[in-house]
Amino acid sequence: MAFKFLTWLVRLARGAAEVCAPVAHCCVCGAPLTEAEMSVCRLCLDRLPATSFETWPQNPVMTRMEGRAKLLSAFSCFYFHKGETLRRLIHQFKYKDDRNVARDLGREMGRRAAHTGFTDSYDALIPVPLHRRRLSERGYNQSHVLALGIADVTGLPVMTDVLIRSRATPTQTHLSADQRYLNVHGVFALGKGAKRAAGLRLLLVDDVFTTGATCEACLEKLAEIEGASLGLATLGYAST
Ligand SMILES: [Zn+2]
Repeated sequence: MAFKFLTWLVRLARGAAEVCAPVAHCCVCGAPLTEAEMSVCRLCLDRLPATSFETWPQNPVMTRMEGRAKLLSAFSCFYFHKGETLRRLIHQFKYKDDRNVARDLGREMGRRAAHTGFTDSYDALIPVPLHRRRLSERGYNQSHVLALGIADVTGLPVMTDVLIRSRATPTQTHLSADQRYLNVHGVFALGKGAKRAAGLRLLLVDDVFTTGATCEACLEKLAEIEGASLGLATLGYAST
């Protein structure tokens, strides 16, 4: 009897605690999240289509950037076109104001990259910048939040004043590879932090690698920093 009463009391206390501090749920499967998870649960992260590019030095990103940028290494974390979930999650953090999704996915990038020592070759993370008009519309730069997620795991600093976007560009979604290149060519510039980046190994962070045009334009600018070496990390990989 006393045991039953105690069980009832524990349930009541748990219920009250949940009302006071509601448990967050995974935005994919609805399972309760642990304290370490912000929006996506461990199981759903494990189900995303991983590329394992971080273990593969001559991976497709490296091959496709050949002759376009001199890179120490490059990796994309997940295949963009395999399965709906990643696309849905990216849509959620790009257009539905859910930065926690980007933070969780950034941490997953960090975990996978750190596990193989990929991130050991770098001194700082550089997010692909957003034009300030787009930034004020969205409220945050998704590449910056991904970089913060990588930083949570690796401890690498995120430098946001090294590279700036000096001109706004129309969305690239429906453009061909050549059009994309022209669309972003010359829109990036070095910021006031570029001097501090001299001699550092910089890892550029972007959301999805599609034609690589945006990354190429950013890397072209970063290559102007004295003594800097460069790498590339993106969340998604899309074959064109
Ligand atoms: Zn889940």
